[in-house]
Amino acid sequence: MNIQSMKLIFLGPPGAGKGTISKMAAERLGVPQISTGDMFRTAVKEKTELGLRVQAILAAGGLVPDELTIAIIRERLSWPDVRQSYILDGFPRTIPQAEALAAFSSPDAAVDFEVRDDLILFRLTGRRVCRACGAIYHAVTKPPKVDSICDLCGGELYTRNDDREETVKARLRAYHEETEPLIGYYAGKGRLLTIDGSPDAETVYTTFISEIGRFLKK
Ligand code: AMP
Repeated sequence: MNIQSMKLIFLGPPGAGKGTISKMAAERLGVPQISTGDMFRTAVKEKTELGLRVQAILAAGGLVPDELTIAIIRERLSWPDVRQSYILDGFPRTIPQAEALAAFSSPDAAVDFEVRDDLILFRLTGRRVCRACGAIYHAVTKPPKVDSICDLCGGELYTRNDDREETVKARLRAYHEETEPLIGYYAGKGRLLTIDGSPDAETVYTTFISEIGRFLKK
């Protein structure tokens, strides 16, 4: 795919595959992927001032306040690498965030990855992540060869704090209450692409690539 410019928002519930598909697009098309969730998790891990502020919110599955999240994205979108293209994975997540974004950037489309809540729960509560290299497994659908050990680097596999069942349910509640209205917001602007996020990642990626062209400037 030959693209001049591709400014996209990835919508959809936690565990819909936004991270996976945006990382595939980053590797294969060279489009920078920006994940507010990754930025917050790194800040927590590194115990920065931001990390200390958001730690409890992430652990509870709530949303970080708009003002703080908007400031972080506004700063990141001022870097030269994202002048032509970007994929925002997990931002905006509220109507005020979408309105703020519209004031400093013009996304070509919002891609909504649809996945039912019961599949989300299964995916996230079974997810295991390598502490050393970040590789992702699933207890049922993609188990490691040796229990709790990464096939790739031998690192220890763990369950992300926010993938515990109670936290996943809270994240889904936050999604339905605060983020789902964005589907109507972008549909109203004629900029919504809806994709079934329930098949495997390669299938979802192929559908995404075949459908996104009509939203991009030639
Ligand atoms: P994610 O990895 O995208 O599911 O994000 C993990 C957590 O980071 C979320 O459960 C929120 O607590 C926080 N977060 C990420 N993006 C946003 C956002 N745009 N607005 C508010 N909170 C966010």
